[in-house]
Amino acid sequence: MKIVDEVRNADTIAISGHIRPDGDCVGSVLGLYLYLRKTLPEAEIDVYLEKPADIFNCISHIEEIKSEINLNKIYDVFIALDCSDDRLGDVRPLFENARRTINIDHHISNPGCGDVRIIEPKRSSTAELLYDLMDADQVDEEVAAALYIGIIHDTGVLRYSNTSPRTLQIVAELIKFGFDFSSIIEKTFYEKTYVQTQIMGRAILESVRFMHDRCIVSMVSRRMMEFYQVTPKDLDGIVNQLQAVKGVECAIFMYETGTLEYKVSMRSNGRVDVASVAMKFGGGGHVRAAGCTMNGTYHDNINNLSIEIAEQLDIK
Ligand code: 5GP
Ligand code: MN
Repeated sequence: MKIVDEVRNADTIAISGHIRPDGDCVGSVLGLYLYLRKTLPEAEIDVYLEKPADIFNCISHIEEIKSEINLNKIYDVFIALDCSDDRLGDVRPLFENARRTINIDHHISNPGCGDVRIIEPKRSSTAELLYDLMDADQVDEEVAAALYIGIIHDTGVLRYSNTSPRTLQIVAELIKFGFDFSSIIEKTFYEKTYVQTQIMGRAILESVRFMHDRCIVSMVSRRMMEFYQVTPKDLDGIVNQLQAVKGVECAIFMYETGTLEYKVSMRSNGRVDVASVAMKFGGGGHVRAAGCTMNGTYHDNINNLSIEIAEQLDIK
């Protein structure tokens, strides 16, 4: 199946992804936008997304993301990427009102939504899946660079176990376009501002291991974020650093989003299925990387997560 066949007759198309967009979400949304604009020049195509982190400003035409939403507009096709409709945020009504809806995702926790559902949990990233839904000869350098960013971010620069031979074949095709992939990796994945590095250091310093040192947890409060003058986008990567501690099988990172409300990120080495833990609390994700929003005190949340994790690790 090719994506163009699903949207060929549409005059108006909208594309969006999940709230708090990560690299795969931003790369997929922009990559598909640029691709459809090129293949269907007559169609009116709008792209909606919560403002991505500044590191993604290197993606071509990112400034064309629409921030104003006309809720009365009825699109011929709405394509939701890298999530189900429940994580579309403010544009969800546009998805619901569209004449035809398409959902393309790789999250195991997503049962799929809309008229056409392409959910492939074995795919490293939505960007990888999208590439195989495109005609390779219509992909250009801008599309390639956007999809590359998606794949790089969801595979931790091609090192997580979700990286398959197909992932690497696609990456090989993409880098043939000649964009500066090395700089993309450095600027979007590894480079941190000084305050981002400081708050990461603080979170690591204050982390605590538990369950016979097989789990690790840390938290950043709103006060800490104010002190370092950072926003949630600056906290990316902390949970991965916690998971890198030798012996740790499951890492939990939380930041305070409101009174008694925390955004939780979890990572695992595969022994714990963190997607199923997150789903118990209304979230989702992948076996080794998942998240949810939890209400309650920090310690209550750790306790509640621990019960689920302990069961999976067979700790009484
Ligand atoms: P992160 O911890 O990096 O925010 O997210 C890890 C993975 O879990 C990503 O694939 C992300 O899309 C997913 N995820 C994070 N938070 C939520 C959530 O609240 N609900 C769902 N369904 N997925 C989430
Ligand atoms: Mn993804």
